[in-house]
Amino acid sequence: MTWSDGFGRTARKLRLSVTDRCDLRCVYCMPERPVWLPRAEVLSFEELVRLAGVAAANGVRQVRVTGGEPLLRKDLPKLVGMLKALKGLEEVTLTTNGTRLAQLAGPLKEAGLDRVTVSLDSLDPATYKAMARTGDVSETLAGMDAAETAGLGPLKVNCVVMRGVNDGQVGDLAAWARRTGRNLRFIEFMPLEGDKIWSKSLLVPASEIAAAVAARFPCIERSAEPGATALRYDYADGGGSFGIVASVTRAFCESCDRIRVTADGTFRTCLFAEHGTDLRGPLRSGASDADLAALMSGAVAQKGPGHLIGLPGFHRPDRAMNAIGG
Ligand code: SAM
Ligand code: SF4
Repeated sequence: MTWSDGFGRTARKLRLSVTDRCDLRCVYCMPERPVWLPRAEVLSFEELVRLAGVAAANGVRQVRVTGGEPLLRKDLPKLVGMLKALKGLEEVTLTTNGTRLAQLAGPLKEAGLDRVTVSLDSLDPATYKAMARTGDVSETLAGMDAAETAGLGPLKVNCVVMRGVNDGQVGDLAAWARRTGRNLRFIEFMPLEGDKIWSKSLLVPASEIAAAVAARFPCIERSAEPGATALRYDYADGGGSFGIVASVTRAFCESCDRIRVTADGTFRTCLFAEHGTDLRGPLRSGASDADLAALMSGAVAQKGPGHLIGLPGFHRPDRAMNAIGG
């Protein structure tokens, strides 16, 4: 059994958000003064694993644990171990800001984590702090080293590019990734931030990001791989490749195979869905696996063709990125 929508797409990847809380306050994500979900509304490990298990029994093959900052959730390696024990899942991965990876990389690896993506918007301490509104880049860098030492490499690195903030550092980041062997993916700034600062003038389109890298290291765009979410560019000197997630200017909606469960148990079939389907209520009032599967497959069947960012019909989702799960 699999869950498919009216546009021929099948759900294969689940983004499982384990908290809306975070130790950073990235300007493109969190509101400056966040109001956290009440603790009682956040799903327990058992509830999260139950939903992931229903998804795995219906064709989902990868779970990416995310948030908010997932490493703030107590005993996260335990959750990873519980997810790894699910039948049908091929991969359990994690997206983190890396600030707590130095302590947790070893336990996460031992629990069976397959891969980790670390977010890093700048190598410059002042720019890092300006984008995260707090924090210390050295913690994230130490977290990356620890992840590699623990055997979680090769690392993927996510970097959101904002005009006038870190766009002048794209070449330096590419140089660093080439030197360290990390798989860098630049991300276009999407209108999902809590403080509603997004505008086209802050967006650096993929074409411009690619040109900035190419000015330092000549590169060519690879032909698109089916189902890929990132555009890929190969360095002409054989020094590897980098990616750009061009969700705004070259959206990949037509091949999207993702579904999401938020930390409070809302099922969403798109990052930009205006609302979601409540699973927490049914979960806590005795729904069977078949009932939960019916709710999720019904929502997938209703999935729209894609988002309309920048167009007149676009409406923001009802919550910010940290409360959806990136
Ligand atoms: N806290 C973790 C982290 O930062 O990696 C995981 C959650 S975060 C919401 C997941 C990813 O979403 C990060 O790589 C972050 O940079 C990205 N992100 C957040 N808000 C975004 C936005 N408005 N546009 C593009 N990417 C965004
Ligand atoms: Fe926290 Fe990640 Fe959002 Fe930054 S992008 S505020 S690290 S959840």
